[in-house]
Amino acid sequence: MDNKILNPHNYIDNSRPVNNCLFPLNIKPDQHFYCNIKVNSNFYLENDVIIYVILFSGWLVLLMLIWDEQMTMKTLRVFPRKMKSTPDDPESIVGDPVPNFRKDFDLIKISVTFTWDKEKAYRLAERWEKFGKVEIGGPAFDDPGGDFTPGLFLKPGYAITSRGCPNNCWFCLASKREGNIRELPIKDGWDVLDNNLLACSDSHVKSVFEMLLRQKERVKFTGGLDVSLLKDWHVDYLSRMRLESVYFAYDSPGDLEILVETGRKLRGVLLPRVIRCYVLIGYPGDTINKAEVRLNEALEAGFIPMAMLYRGGVWKREINRDWHDLAFSWINYKMLAYRIKRLKI
Ligand code: SF4
Repeated sequence: MDNKILNPHNYIDNSRPVNNCLFPLNIKPDQHFYCNIKVNSNFYLENDVIIYVILFSGWLVLLMLIWDEQMTMKTLRVFPRKMKSTPDDPESIVGDPVPNFRKDFDLIKISVTFTWDKEKAYRLAERWEKFGKVEIGGPAFDDPGGDFTPGLFLKPGYAITSRGCPNNCWFCLASKREGNIRELPIKDGWDVLDNNLLACSDSHVKSVFEMLLRQKERVKFTGGLDVSLLKDWHVDYLSRMRLESVYFAYDSPGDLEILVETGRKLRGVLLPRVIRCYVLIGYPGDTINKAEVRLNEALEAGFIPMAMLYRGGVWKREINRDWHDLAFSWINYKMLAYRIKRLKI
């Protein structure tokens, strides 16, 4: 046979026994392949091993190149507004490009949290596109979210250990955007932003609590815990943590009974100042009087209320002045302190 170069991918010899083959590829004896390497008919096994090693090495090199590109790809994160949670490292910027901006980023990711910032994000995209490829995403664009990387789109210290929610409350986008509850790998942090941590499996919740017990900083449950899922062993864990705040929610009058019961349970084991509650106000059908009643009920149940003004899912919505003033009076620390003192909590 000619000493021709063979392509091992399309040369198959069915006459060859297969029981000495390590790789699903047959090379006929005395044929040359690749760099005209002469193959002895007695060395099927060695021959296959060589091919295997060559192909495997090729794949390895390719994977390393891809990995290297991913690792060395410089990504800038851009945020439409500055918030407490916005990262402040050198690879993150709020707003427009600054004068004399360096043009050495491969990808510019604009991360948008609130739907009313979408228009601003589009404007930012136009200004940033001359500095690199631009991608817009984030919760405002219904991004279902993947695994959580601490410090990437939230400052170090924040933790998200699950996404989604099994409930589908009419005013909330958690399950609409992220689907049913999904547990993520647990990364260290001390401010937990999960939508509904207690809806996760007991083993996941326990692992998160153990992670929080290791933290040097005071723990915050800013994402909130669901009162209807709170069990005694959760309370026991909470009582062993150095807590800054643990939030629950009072979204409709029907939640009052369980809120009062939970408040009674928590007040026995946690400091009063850490027990807090989001109170949804200003939704269709709500009135200033009704909202004030709910805020006071939460306070009397032992929770420091935080008014959450319903803004709907629209891009822009003017906030009614009365609702704005009511919400502010229940967020302002001094006014809250006065109310707490008056109730002798
Ligand atoms: S409000 Fe809470 S319980 Fe309801 S869907 Fe949103 S995250 Fe889930």
